[in-house]
Amino acid sequence: MLKAKLVKGAVALVLFGTLFSIPMMPVSSAADASCPNGYVGLTFDDGPNTSNTTKLLNALKQAGLRATMFNIGQNAQNNPSLVRDQATAGMWIGNHSYTHPDMTTLSSSQMSSEISRTQQTIQSITGTAPKLFRPPYGATNATLKSIETQNSLTEVLWNVDSQDWNGATTAQIVVAAGRLQNGDVILMHDQYQTTLQAIPQIAQNLKSRGLCSGMISPSTGRAVAPDGGSSGGGDGTPSTGTKKETESMTKGGQYTSNISSPFNGVALYANNDSVKYTQYFESGTHNFSLRGASNNSEMARVDLKIGGQTKGTFYFGGSYPAVYTLNNVSHGTGNQEIELVVTADNGTWDAYIDYLEIN
Ligand code: ZN
Repeated sequence: MLKAKLVKGAVALVLFGTLFSIPMMPVSSAADASCPNGYVGLTFDDGPNTSNTTKLLNALKQAGLRATMFNIGQNAQNNPSLVRDQATAGMWIGNHSYTHPDMTTLSSSQMSSEISRTQQTIQSITGTAPKLFRPPYGATNATLKSIETQNSLTEVLWNVDSQDWNGATTAQIVVAAGRLQNGDVILMHDQYQTTLQAIPQIAQNLKSRGLCSGMISPSTGRAVAPDGGSSGGGDGTPSTGTKKETESMTKGGQYTSNISSPFNGVALYANNDSVKYTQYFESGTHNFSLRGASNNSEMARVDLKIGGQTKGTFYFGGSYPAVYTLNNVSHGTGNQEIELVVTADNGTWDAYIDYLEIN
């Protein structure tokens, strides 16, 4: 719970209403408030590895940033739990070849193998094949591009090179990130202490410039507002599943309240605040999408529980409403209690949730 931690839920509701129920305030401008100048794509190549990835994920989470991790396939194969950690931390996962060769020196069948082995490895770990490919060293040619297309991959290079791989200092990496404009992508690596130490300052500078960390759009290769799942989803495809509004669910916890802005939904202010309802399932695997937002630029987290078991966490990295999807969630069949609950509140954010959609 962020505001009014020590007051009763009713007071929190009044506070909230006072802040957000100003007549005629357009919802979109209110929701955009923390990212008025747009989104940039932070990317980290060459992971995952046991020496750095966990520290990198912790630094990003601490800073409220989300990023795209261009994983090397054989590193993913050797460290599947770190790949799952990347997805759980709200990061997007891209393909960076299987063994990190200069792809332009390979035959077309070798190129295909580098790409498809990595697609299969990451899909087997996260349930979702990457949609983005970054060629090692940025080296590409027409043959490689046609193989990327065959694998439904979008090639992503960069607008800004942090030079972390070339001995840049932490200060120099921070300065490089300072050149990012709306839609731009920066090259960094899951490897260096200098990069790790730059993250808090990068976060602060982006915030002061009205920029947020976004996802890289598979249709344009440019950074955009996050609107999808952790494993490279978010292609904007409209879905057609069972949709349940949170305000129609049963409220639990101490402070859970209805809200009317930035959407009609529910606010979860503190740990154990929740909403729940009973859903009938004929089959045992579904994708769960929750639309929500944080009340500020801190990352709000809402757990999905089905039948009393925690199945995953929805992340909302800003105040602009976004849809976060947990893919291929296994659960019991028949009537199951579905609960959306806050368990990771640290006092710096509140979670606003709109609807749950099941596909
Ligand atoms: Zn690389």
